[in-house]
Amino acid sequence: MNNTTAAERLEKTYGITSEKGVNPAISDSSTYFFDSAQDMSKTFEGQTEGMYLYSRHSSPSTNYLARSLAAMENMPAALVTASGMSAIAVTLMQLLQSGEHIVAGRTIYGGSYALLKNFLPRYQIETSFVNMINLEHVSQAIKYNTKVLYFESLSNPLLEIPDFNAIKLLAQEKGIKIVVDNTFTPLLCVPKELGADVVIHSLTKFINGTSDALGGVVCGDTEFVEALRDVNSGASMLLGPTMDAQRAASILKNMRTLSVRMQKHSQNALYLATKLESDGFTVLYPGLRSHPQHALANTFFDPKIGYGGLLALDMKTHSNAAKLMEGMQERGLGYLAVSLGFSKTLFSASGSSTSSEIPENEQQAMGLTSGLIRFSIGLDENIAKTYVQMKSILDGIAEA
Ligand code: PLP
Repeated sequence: MNNTTAAERLEKTYGITSEKGVNPAISDSSTYFFDSAQDMSKTFEGQTEGMYLYSRHSSPSTNYLARSLAAMENMPAALVTASGMSAIAVTLMQLLQSGEHIVAGRTIYGGSYALLKNFLPRYQIETSFVNMINLEHVSQAIKYNTKVLYFESLSNPLLEIPDFNAIKLLAQEKGIKIVVDNTFTPLLCVPKELGADVVIHSLTKFINGTSDALGGVVCGDTEFVEALRDVNSGASMLLGPTMDAQRAASILKNMRTLSVRMQKHSQNALYLATKLESDGFTVLYPGLRSHPQHALANTFFDPKIGYGGLLALDMKTHSNAAKLMEGMQERGLGYLAVSLGFSKTLFSASGSSTSSEIPENEQQAMGLTSGLIRFSIGLDENIAKTYVQMKSILDGIAEA
C-alpha cells in the first residue's frame, strides 16, 4: 500500500546531485568515453546500466528529469522525449506491431487523434474510437488483436473522467496494456495506482508551466523503458526524438513549483466554475457537483491539489465564444492561445482549434459544440476581480 502522494514523492527526488549543487550540473555532452574497450562493447550488447553511451540513448540531465517524473507517477522508470506527441508516438510504435489494434477514447487531444486515425494506419495499426465513459462500448470495441487501450485521465476538451478500475478489469482479462495521457492532471491523478501500465505527459503544459519549452515523458516499468531505448529495436533510440540536456535541466527546475502551481490553478478554476455555473452558464469542471464524474474525481484525485486548472464553458455559438475570448484578451485577462498550464489564463474554442482534426459530425456526436471554450485557468492573484471583469464581458454579450 502506497501512502505517499505524488507531490511528496516528487519533492523527495530533489537534492540527489553528486556535485552538491542545489540543482544538478548540466551534462553538456552528446557522447561519453568508456574506461575500457570491453565496457564499450558491453554497452552495445545492451548492458547500459550506470553507463552513458550517447545522448540519444540517455544523458545525466535527461535521467535526472526522468527520475523525478517516474517518482511522481509511482513508476519504476521513465524516459523523456522532445515533445508530448513524440512520447505518445514512440510508446504506441513500441507496443504495437502491424496488424494490431487500439481502442482509444474519442475525446482525446486532436494531435493524438490524428496520429491514431490518419498516421498509424499506414503501418496497418488500426484504432476504434469509443466513448470511454460507456463501458459497454469499450468492451464491444475490443477485438482479438487489440493490444492497447488509450485514453486521457481527464479528456480533452470535454473533461470526462473514465472509470479506470472498470477499464482495468476489461483490459486485464485480455492482456491488453492501458496507456494513459495524464497531461491535464499531474499530481492530482496517479494513473498507475488506478491500473495504468504506461503513463505519458506532454511536459509542455503544467509540468514545465512557463510555455517556453516542449517536452514529453513515458513512465512505465523498467523493461518497457529499456525496450524504448534499446540500440537495436527501441522506438525512441531509433526514431530519435530526444530531449536536449539544457531543456531537461530547465524543466526539472520548473517542476519544483508544480505542486503550489497546481493548487493555485485548481483553486482559481473551482472559483470561476462555481461562479459561472451559478450565473446559469453551462460549465464543465470536475470539481462541480453537476459534473457527471464528480464522485469519481473525488476518489481518483488528490484533494490537497484539487480538481485541476482546466474548465470548459459552453457559449452555445462560435460568435459568442469569439466575443468572450477577444474581450478577455483585450482586458489582459489571458491569451487567445492553444496549450495549457501557463501562469496566465489561455483559452481557445476547441472545435475549431485543438480538436479541429476531429470531423464536425463526430464533434457533434460527442457534445463538442462550436461555442465550447476550453480555459486553462492561470495563477491570478485575485480571481474574484478576474471574475467580475469576465462577467461584465458576458453581460455585454447577453445584451447585444
Ligand atoms: N496530450 C495532450 C492532452 C495535449 O493537450 C497535447 C498538446 O496539446 C499533447 C498530448 C501533445 O503534446 P506536445 O504539444 O508537447 O507534443
